[in-house]
Amino acid sequence: MEGKEDEHEFIFRSKLADIYIPNHLPLHTYCFENISQFKDRPCIINGPTGDIYTYADVELTSRKVAAGLHKSGIKKGDVVMLLLQNCPQFVFAFLGASYIGAISTTANPFYTPAEIAKQATASKAKLIITQALYAEKVKDLAEESGVKIMTIDSSPDQNCLHFSELTKDDENDIPAVKINPDDVVALPYSSGTTGLPKGVMLSHKGLVTSVAQQVDGDNPNLYFHKEDVILCVLPLFHIYSLNSVLLCALRVGAAILIMQKFEIVTLMELVEKHKVTIAPFVPPIVLAIAKSPDLDKYNLSSIRTVMSGAAPMGKELEDAVRAKLPNAKLGQGYGMTEAGPVLSMCLAFAKEPFEIKSGACGTVVRNAEMKIVDPDSGASLPRNQSGEICIRGSQIMKGYLNDEEATERTIDKDGWLHTGDIGFIDDDDELFIVDRLKELIKYKGFQVAPAELEAMLIAHPNISDAAVVPMKDEAAGEVPVAFVVRSNGSKITEDEIKQYISKQVVFYKRINRVFFIDTIPKAPSGKILRKDLRAKLAAGLPN
Ligand code: AMP
Repeated sequence: MEGKEDEHEFIFRSKLADIYIPNHLPLHTYCFENISQFKDRPCIINGPTGDIYTYADVELTSRKVAAGLHKSGIKKGDVVMLLLQNCPQFVFAFLGASYIGAISTTANPFYTPAEIAKQATASKAKLIITQALYAEKVKDLAEESGVKIMTIDSSPDQNCLHFSELTKDDENDIPAVKINPDDVVALPYSSGTTGLPKGVMLSHKGLVTSVAQQVDGDNPNLYFHKEDVILCVLPLFHIYSLNSVLLCALRVGAAILIMQKFEIVTLMELVEKHKVTIAPFVPPIVLAIAKSPDLDKYNLSSIRTVMSGAAPMGKELEDAVRAKLPNAKLGQGYGMTEAGPVLSMCLAFAKEPFEIKSGACGTVVRNAEMKIVDPDSGASLPRNQSGEICIRGSQIMKGYLNDEEATERTIDKDGWLHTGDIGFIDDDDELFIVDRLKELIKYKGFQVAPAELEAMLIAHPNISDAAVVPMKDEAAGEVPVAFVVRSNGSKITEDEIKQYISKQVVFYKRINRVFFIDTIPKAPSGKILRKDLRAKLAAGLPN
């Protein structure tokens, strides 16, 4: 990575050479471009059932689903919501939508009905594909808005369509739609640097570029290859798993072992049984493995790579996992949904590996530029100086759906995406993340947007003002805590506030502690001075 002075800017690039990226291709075409080399090899291994789908099966079923979606009225540019735990149907639906130029918006099935409704309404989803278990959550929405509901397993009532109807169609009945590289294919939701969750428009070109940056080129051992068995335990509704697990695996022809949900003993059993070689994790899963009393009962020596991302991993945890899995190389990657998502990755897995530094998030991906910007002056900074991490390249999002203002705040006029993360690049080109400038709270890698919780708190008649900030937590990394100003005469308690929020949000957004305060510190502009509140927490719990 060159830290060269480029017309007054310090711009850093990968230490690997740039590669050719065929980002004119639609995403599904790119993923299956080399399928003739591995069409009879396993593509999906369904952990819970043991069913195996070859690459030929997955391509065929995805094409049938494309034809079926078209027949059910989904057209180019329409949005389909995937409200699913990890399962083969997620893969078929995502690829099927891509074939006909439709867009998948992915959502956590554990969301409350209100959270799902917000995303489905904002994205104008026409169809929600879900499990029977979650169909009840979207019933009211279907009645009010007319969105169609489809279940992948047994239907709870006749008002739901069934996924099997999609696979009845002839795979050659896919309509001839022209897909442009800039067309959107995935629409995950993220709060970015500030405010409420927003639809992140990821195009065919963006995702092809991002996958290529990770697995293409003359360094075929970078990350993983077709003999690998890659564990897919991280939720596919998050872009980390969708891109760096599913799409990367499809591109190289690796087998994808799908786990519906994380459970430590099942995970170790499956790793042993299917000889998993690549384990993409988040720090809480790494922690669970390092601490598991059952670890010695299983043979996990097949794992050659443990990747960790989505949240910071401390040196102690890195050391613990290295001691427990001595055959595996451990490296961090750094992603952000808006960045496509991978900004940097550890090159320990490259053909000619580079040394892994403890705490580092690797080096910037190929075919991209990174700079570190002084948040006050906006000037780019040289090595070893901390500032806001910014990235530029074809892999970043097109923008936020229907939110030009937020897009302009995040991607500047020169095309730099501002991450809201603070970090520096050292003498050996390694990126270190040291702080977060933005509001975002990360609970076990899941996003918690303070603005969403603050809006709910302020809507309570007994609360006159509120601010939500992260508090460090050993198991979760961070948990949301609230500073609350009671309304005049109100005696609302911590428990009442916690319960009021719990009813409205998925489990990881629940408020962990409430601190009562006289006023919320704010700048003259009205912006909450979150740093002051975080400092209060760091100085010891306020009450
Ligand atoms: P998301 O959009 O949900 O992927 O969240 C992106 C944010 O997660 C980043 O902007 C960082 O704040 C944080 N993050 C992701 N990867 C890492 C990492 N390896 N180390 C520290 N923070 C990370």
